[in-house]
Amino acid sequence: MGVEYKIVDKTGLIEFDLPDSKVNLLTAFVLQKLDGILDRVAAKQEIEALLFTSAKKDVFIAGADIKEIEDIVEAQDGVIKSKAGQRIFNKIEDLKIPTVAVIDGVALGGGCELSLACDYRIATFNEKVKIGLPEVGLGILPGFGGCYRLPKLIGLPNALKIILAGKVVSATEALRYGMVDRLYPSIGLENSVKEFIAEIKDSSRRKKKFDRKLKPMDWFTDKFIFGQVLVIDQARRNVLKLTKGFYPAPLRALEVIRATYGQPREKALELEAKEFSRLAVGDVAKNLVKVFYLQEKYKKLKLSKDEGTEVVKPVAIKKCGVIGAGIMGGGIAQILAYKDIDVRMKDINQEAIATGLRSAAKVFQSLVKKRKLSVAQSRAKMARISGTTDWSGFKHVDCVIEAVVENMDIKRKVFTEVSQVVGTETLLFTNTSSLSIKEMSQAVTNPSRMLGFHFFNPVHRMPLIEIIITEETAASTIVSALELVKRLGKIPILVKDSPGFLVNRILLAYINEAGHILDQDPGMSFTELDRMVTDFGLPMGPLSLSDEVGLDVGIKVLQILEKGFGKRFKPSARFLEIYEKKMLGKKSGKGFYLYGKRDGKGEKKENQDLIRQAAKEDKTTDRKYYLERMLYVMINEAARSLEEGIVDSADTVDVGMIMGTGFPAFRGGLLRYADNVGIKHIVEKLKFFANQYGPDRFMPCRFLENLDLNKKMFYS
Ligand code: NAD
Repeated sequence: MGVEYKIVDKTGLIEFDLPDSKVNLLTAFVLQKLDGILDRVAAKQEIEALLFTSAKKDVFIAGADIKEIEDIVEAQDGVIKSKAGQRIFNKIEDLKIPTVAVIDGVALGGGCELSLACDYRIATFNEKVKIGLPEVGLGILPGFGGCYRLPKLIGLPNALKIILAGKVVSATEALRYGMVDRLYPSIGLENSVKEFIAEIKDSSRRKKKFDRKLKPMDWFTDKFIFGQVLVIDQARRNVLKLTKGFYPAPLRALEVIRATYGQPREKALELEAKEFSRLAVGDVAKNLVKVFYLQEKYKKLKLSKDEGTEVVKPVAIKKCGVIGAGIMGGGIAQILAYKDIDVRMKDINQEAIATGLRSAAKVFQSLVKKRKLSVAQSRAKMARISGTTDWSGFKHVDCVIEAVVENMDIKRKVFTEVSQVVGTETLLFTNTSSLSIKEMSQAVTNPSRMLGFHFFNPVHRMPLIEIIITEETAASTIVSALELVKRLGKIPILVKDSPGFLVNRILLAYINEAGHILDQDPGMSFTELDRMVTDFGLPMGPLSLSDEVGLDVGIKVLQILEKGFGKRFKPSARFLEIYEKKMLGKKSGKGFYLYGKRDGKGEKKENQDLIRQAAKEDKTTDRKYYLERMLYVMINEAARSLEEGIVDSADTVDVGMIMGTGFPAFRGGLLRYADNVGIKHIVEKLKFFANQYGPDRFMPCRFLENLDLNKKMFYS
């Protein structure tokens, strides 16, 4: 079960096929079976070559079983697990006959490491082929010999690029890196493999293990210790810049590779197993594994059976109308076209259309630069987008995504018009950040086809889409929206219609709290306040984020939230004052920071004019509480969203905050972080703040109070 062995024409065939699973995994059971097969192969000497293949479509081996990694509690268990895999892969490496991994799909983590232990790796042109070592993304390092074998196979500089970034490459990239020896079409693969075997059985043509042509950079690192030091040092600096030291795995992997490069196998594998296990039992790995499960769960999000998914089919979307060709409209058009959906983009004038087309073209150009698309592919995809200033070309669209300015009257007018042009069943989605979907949907005929489809900026990079539903939204509309999100390669969360939905409601509570801190501590440096948050692990501080988005947008959303939820969302006095001065942020060259002239891309300096010389009595509190204030209002707001049934679970909050705002994954998400800190502590602190600054923003909501009273957590 899971792996079978047979002999065909003196060639051994080890085929992976995990039952009841779409993918193959190297579970403990599969590894044990593989071990037995390899013993037989070595003992009987009845074959001339050995192939490793998969019976699964588009998958070779997706990796080790993450559940088993999650279960590692003691470091010693980790060492045992890692050594078990290493020992089996050593057996593959030590076989006297040529060994070949045949990769016609995903070969990740342990799957990739198995292939590295073979003499040869052949892959196919199948676009599902993805090869790599993504372990650092789970907070661990490759523990089945990957840290030892990949640098030997492709050289130190390239191996570091793959392992430290957890990089996964396509078949053609793998060929370029030297991770595979040859590519064949998937069709006729069996015959191609036969020819390949015939070729390598001829011992004069058989290459030595880890034979490779030294590229200039490999030569530099292989022949000179100085070269190695330089490459390792640069890699360390790159890792620190990228991870800010929050993620230990890439640094540990670097250390393993540094200490073992060119060393005997046993010594190298010993250190690899030890470091793998140290990481596997750490908090960061435990949190990242949970986040991995979250992502997998939400990628496959479905309506439950009682919500009608059995009977409704998603609308097949071939052509989409996008209204508004601004920052978001241009981005939305690009991603639709990238996924081969025709786009008709409408705006009020040609100039705006040209801007939208230009911004879409820019993203395609960057994909060509990164070799993700050829020039011809990028042109063909770009040609799917056309522009118009009237409704021509909208009659036969399957779906409309509206992204005009954030104004209810304008949006309602646009929807009234478009619903008269398109079919009565055509899906109508709005990208509004905060306005009521219900109010908007009353402007259209058949509001059951309408929902909020909230992308984040920049569209091509941000993975989350909030799907916002009203009581009138039909199950078929939701199912179609979920299908579209999947097609776009994004992650959906389902949110009930309510001001600010989920992510912006929580985010604005936190940004506004930063404003209240400035009200109370006017001498506070903006950089210092921002740094408290980035030192916690968020990608950007609240004031920098406000400058990015624009204070005008922030104030507008706060006002909508204030109207919906009352005083706790009243914009801070400092925000209103700076808004009055029209210092809106990057777009006006001035906000909390001053920006260089060219598109705001120049140097960023603190706007000293806005920092007040604080009178002594202004400073009413110890600054060490500021981070807690900002984080705990977010947690309180998230708890309220659960209390009100805006979202269904802590999982939804966490996936939304990680994917929509960059809340640090290594902390497991906002509410997992809350559990780790302790609900009791958070409730006490909120009450303390409520005492100090008034109850509006700080009084713990009932949901949070109940968790505390019943000694429960968000994740029980
Ligand atoms: P934008 O100002 O860049 O673009 C709006 C576009 O709409 C402009 O090109 C404008 O000419 C066009 N427009 C205005 N009235 C129109 C009409 N009647 N018909 C057709 N086009 C019209 O705005 P944006 O930042 O792209 O935001 C668009 C929507 O997306 C808003 O609802 C906003 O809240 C939402 N949103 C924005 C962001 C963001 O970060 N910018 C993120 C998520 C959602």
